[in-house]
Amino acid sequence: MTKRKIGSTECVHAGALPCEASSSITTPIVHSAPFAFETTKDLIALIEGRSERRQPEYGRMGNPTVTCVERRLAALEGAEKAQLFASGMAAVTTLFLACLKSGDHMVITTDCYKRTRDFCITFLKKFGITVSVVPSSLESIEGAVGPGTRMVFTETPTNPYLYVVDIEGLAELGHTEGFLTVVDSTFATPVNFRPLEFGVDLVVHSATKYLGGHNDLIAGVLSGGAGLVEPVSDLLMTLGGICDPNTAFLLERGIKTLAIRVAKQNANGQAIAEFLNAHPRVSSVFYPGLTSHPQHNLAKKLMSGFGGVVTFLLDADFEQTSSFVDRLQIPRLAPSLGGVESLVEQAMIMGYWDVPREEREALGMYDNLVRLSLGIEDAEDIIADLDQALQKV
Ligand code: PLP
Repeated sequence: MTKRKIGSTECVHAGALPCEASSSITTPIVHSAPFAFETTKDLIALIEGRSERRQPEYGRMGNPTVTCVERRLAALEGAEKAQLFASGMAAVTTLFLACLKSGDHMVITTDCYKRTRDFCITFLKKFGITVSVVPSSLESIEGAVGPGTRMVFTETPTNPYLYVVDIEGLAELGHTEGFLTVVDSTFATPVNFRPLEFGVDLVVHSATKYLGGHNDLIAGVLSGGAGLVEPVSDLLMTLGGICDPNTAFLLERGIKTLAIRVAKQNANGQAIAEFLNAHPRVSSVFYPGLTSHPQHNLAKKLMSGFGGVVTFLLDADFEQTSSFVDRLQIPRLAPSLGGVESLVEQAMIMGYWDVPREEREALGMYDNLVRLSLGIEDAEDIIADLDQALQKV
């Protein structure tokens, strides 16, 4: 399959509609909770689906700024429809609640964002949904699905080990066995990977990360066929976790520079992974762009770039690892990823501090595990910074 290009032209223009009201180049932020009608007949026509008008009567059902950004996101992802949410978690949880019912079985891969996994394990079970948590590989997924499986949810590349899942194989399996396939593609972005092109049913992103790209907003997006996205949108109108127009505006601004930011982050990721891989104080580096990565060939087949997150194990104990993180000058100690500023975290502290050691180590959350999310600073400066911090380990 030839990979569709998502470059800067697509990021700036794809899915954009001219603003009829103001001829402005940018999408206006429309602040209105209710939306008015000229006549009662117009209102009834909208309710009965006979109206040309697309704007619903109330902001929880839709907003013109938000709709413009959704159209852009759908174009980049190659989706019929995209739905924005207040956060990535609002997207994921609304999706699960809309698509799963009591008696269903779902499969989720271990290396998923902790709160997504926890929601499935603790919350969905309360609704009579059985959940299998399996390693992030097609073979493990194949072994877990059965006649009652309604959905398989995975991330790729995964968090924090950046495993790459055979998404083409997963989509094929989903079609044969009749379950929904959903990929959280936050780490890849539509520039590096578009799961729908490989036959997956639905894609989610924490738009907080690369799509927003400036560490200044929280949002989520779900994309796919209209028939699958619309029931989730419908539940969103009831649950209410909507994206507000200010956030949508910021997100749209971020999307326009997505391709150039991601190109720089891909280059930074590769350069820094190679530097760390050669460093004597680093015992392992996890980055799909390294030939030593277990799914390097699969990553090359599926992806156009390997992203800006590099995870590594220091040859160090807990305290030494914390001191290394604290000595870094460029990456700030903070969760999240995908923004223009580099961020770093000792992964077991940020999300797993209260999890018993045995349990967190079973999930690969070791004391000396560091996750580096690269921004758009220059690679040589980040390398010099890592080098000075590593010299004291
Ligand atoms: N998916 C992934 C891969 C994430 O890393 C995160 C958050 O870190 C989420 C989903 C949740 O997104 P949000 O923080 O926008 O709710």
